Amino acid sequence: MSAAALITGQPGPAQRRAMAKAITLLESTRLDHREQADALLTELLPHAGRSLRLGISGVPGVGKSTFIEALGLFLIARGHRVAVLAVDPSSSVSGGSILGDKTRMERLSMDERAYIRPSPSSGTLGGVAEKTREALLVCEAAGYDIVIIETVGVGQSEIAVAGMTDMYCLLQLPNAGDDLQAIKKGVMELADLVLINKADLDRAAATRAQAQIASSLRLYGLHGHPEHAHHDKSIWHPQVMPLSALKADGIEAFWGQVERFREIQQANGRFAAKRQQQAQAWMWERIHAGLREQFSQAPAVRAILAETTAQVLRGTLAASTAARLLLHKFSGDEHHA
Ligand code: GDP
Repeated sequence: MSAAALITGQPGPAQRRAMAKAITLLESTRLDHREQADALLTELLPHAGRSLRLGISGVPGVGKSTFIEALGLFLIARGHRVAVLAVDPSSSVSGGSILGDKTRMERLSMDERAYIRPSPSSGTLGGVAEKTREALLVCEAAGYDIVIIETVGVGQSEIAVAGMTDMYCLLQLPNAGDDLQAIKKGVMELADLVLINKADLDRAAATRAQAQIASSLRLYGLHGHPEHAHHDKSIWHPQVMPLSALKADGIEAFWGQVERFREIQQANGRFAAKRQQQAQAWMWERIHAGLREQFSQAPAVRAILAETTAQVLRGTLAASTAARLLLHKFSGDEHHA
């Protein structure tokens, strides 16, 4: 049986093996592997797209894995199949992964209705995000109807995850300092829903944080909607909820909000529109990344790059003139290739 047939076929050990093999193939940097991987993606694509893609982020220790395990077990009990993927660009820098260690989500990972895959560990954030987007398609083709993509709250990776999911959720601690940081970084604006975790430790603090974040979401968030749009029930307004992931308290309420989000977004057309925008933005992101790579590898560019840069630094060549000169050399190189 072909890889695509195994992946889209019956759930079970053969499907899991085929998924793992496919994702390994996608993560390979070998050119012939890349060609096979692209052919496989094209075969899988008609079977993909039918999941709910849920992004979850938050600083290390906020309770992401505790939450994802509790949520995953809750969803499985309700008949869903749940895949958990991760975007952790730090793994290629530090050599160790913040998200990837095996002891996490022990109960969920033992359940055959769950599929958990650690972050790919190759290179740039763009590279890691690319592999995760493709793994997402494999999971969807295999019939996982909920795909959770997790990332740590350390910067750009949150934007990447918000750009590949239908609904992006931010976990926060009941502590004003952290909330303000997320607001400053602009991450709060991305969130469709903010969860104040560890509410069991200090209910009062969680309630204060909830009120504070709710008011800042109204100021910063609403995804560009004017203030008066607040009560419009046909659009989703970012929500803030308390949670105790450890006690699995708030999971059901959270899921209720996720279902409401999906209904509203599907009814007003934004669900499909967002996916189209994401796919198009992603295509251009990868084109730009590919062009940058080709540019820096091109012999004609490499031949004059150091000297041209030196001229810019000395002030004998305007930066924009230098850029035009290099681009001209690059496209000349392309035409003769
Ligand atoms: P991650 O780094 O974001 O994945 O965080 P973990 O899920 O590993 O949780 C970090 C620590 O916080 C662990 O010791 C958890 O048991 C604890 N924790 C997670 N959620 C809660 C919660 O809701 N309440 C309390 N009291 N502790 C929690």
